[in-house]
Amino acid sequence: MARIVIVEDEPELALGLRDNLEFEGHQVACAADGKTGLRLVKQQPTDLVLLDIMLPDVDGFEVCRRLRAAGYTMPIVILSARGQEIDKVRGLELGADDYVTKPFSLRELLARLHAALRRAGGAPAARQAGFALGDRQVDLVRQMVITPQGEVPLGYYESEILRMLYEHVGEAVPRADMLNRIWGVGVGPADRTVDNHIVSLRRKLEPDPAKPRHILTAHAVGYKLVL
Ligand code: CA
Repeated sequence: MARIVIVEDEPELALGLRDNLEFEGHQVACAADGKTGLRLVKQQPTDLVLLDIMLPDVDGFEVCRRLRAAGYTMPIVILSARGQEIDKVRGLELGADDYVTKPFSLRELLARLHAALRRAGGAPAARQAGFALGDRQVDLVRQMVITPQGEVPLGYYESEILRMLYEHVGEAVPRADMLNRIWGVGVGPADRTVDNHIVSLRRKLEPDPAKPRHILTAHAVGYKLVL
């Protein structure tokens, strides 16, 4: 259970997020403007702030800046209709932990909130047990994909790649980062290790491996998981 403050001026979006987070067992408070958001965070213990950028009074960037200036260290996830790189950089420079661009899938947002909470909680035991991908279920503990046709085993490296992609769901994860963390090596650009495992993962997870919908190639960078 986490205590979450949502600062969002679109009532339908705020309500939808609150319902889903409460359903997951979190305690949620909502503010429709920046000043109220700041007040809520200062009034009560808060584990995570979900922050819209375009707000009626104090905008999300300023809320983020003020919270960090006041010494608050909880994760702040920025939620914004603006997708430009400059805004993303600005949000992250002001101390936000993650940045989700509207429109987003609820599952993706929840996964990223979980990841932010996990990083902040410093609970290494809380390893992700699995997640759903289309009509398939990925079981990272048993290292299996459960498909409508039956179970397909995952190799150790395949399941670690999936775990890492899921922790950064919706973002491109560089090949070099995967090699570093999973294989513990630094390597040259010609290395095909990750790509070979991705080919195999797509065969197990994608309805049409030639036209992947979940494990996407991030050109010249690496790979990205889309739920
Ligand atoms: Ca807004």
